[in-house]
Amino acid sequence: MDNSDEYKEALYTGVSAARWDVGKSANFLLSSDQFTAMELELVYMEGFKPSDQMVELMVAFLEKYTLKPDGITVVLKEIPAMNLGEYTTEDIAKIEEDYRERYNEGTTVSVFLLVVDGDYKKSEDSSFTIGAAYRNTSLVLFGNRIAENSGGIIKPRKAILEATVALHEMGHLMGLVNLDNDMVTPHEDEEHESHCDNKDCLMYWAIETNSIFNYMQQSVPTLDDNCELDLRANGGR
Ligand SMILES: [Zn+2]
Ligand SMILES: [Zn+2]
Repeated sequence: MDNSDEYKEALYTGVSAARWDVGKSANFLLSSDQFTAMELELVYMEGFKPSDQMVELMVAFLEKYTLKPDGITVVLKEIPAMNLGEYTTEDIAKIEEDYRERYNEGTTVSVFLLVVDGDYKKSEDSSFTIGAAYRNTSLVLFGNRIAENSGGIIKPRKAILEATVALHEMGHLMGLVNLDNDMVTPHEDEEHESHCDNKDCLMYWAIETNSIFNYMQQSVPTLDDNCELDLRANGGR
């Protein structure tokens, strides 16, 4: 390994490489150029363990769109419930600091997914309520909101709802839409930045908000052609 490779590796691994903006690691997640394996660290508060089906759907989604010849692994970890009711962005960042154990290392890129036992404490400039991508390799799901809005006759099944939101947020980490990678064909929603203008697409803005309940199907929406083209253009498949 020459000096420039050592320098690159130091730059792309460890805690400091997990403190960038959403979309900045899209190519690392999608391609096998820098990282040939992916690890998903799934940390959930007691009582909010993600369903097996959601984990399966996430892995299938990642296998479909990313090039990771050395595999995709999932590590599940339970942490104590915090009962804060509402979580601010600062609270979430602090929990990640306390509990995240896996960071990019060697040829493995790492993604952190946190499930909290409450809701998001809204600030004026944000509309998300069910989940969020908040850093280049960090996602959060608001478990309380998912539990409240799933099950029953009309409401979507919990696994489908949590998987839908988790995959949407993963799409943001992969650079969708127009997040640090150019669009092949312009398709960003003019009124909702970083989202797709196709209401049938997984990257439609309403997916991560309460509006999802108005049109949600009994299966996870898929990416449309424009979003798929963007992933491929940025090293994915
Ligand atoms: Zn979104
Ligand atoms: Zn789309």
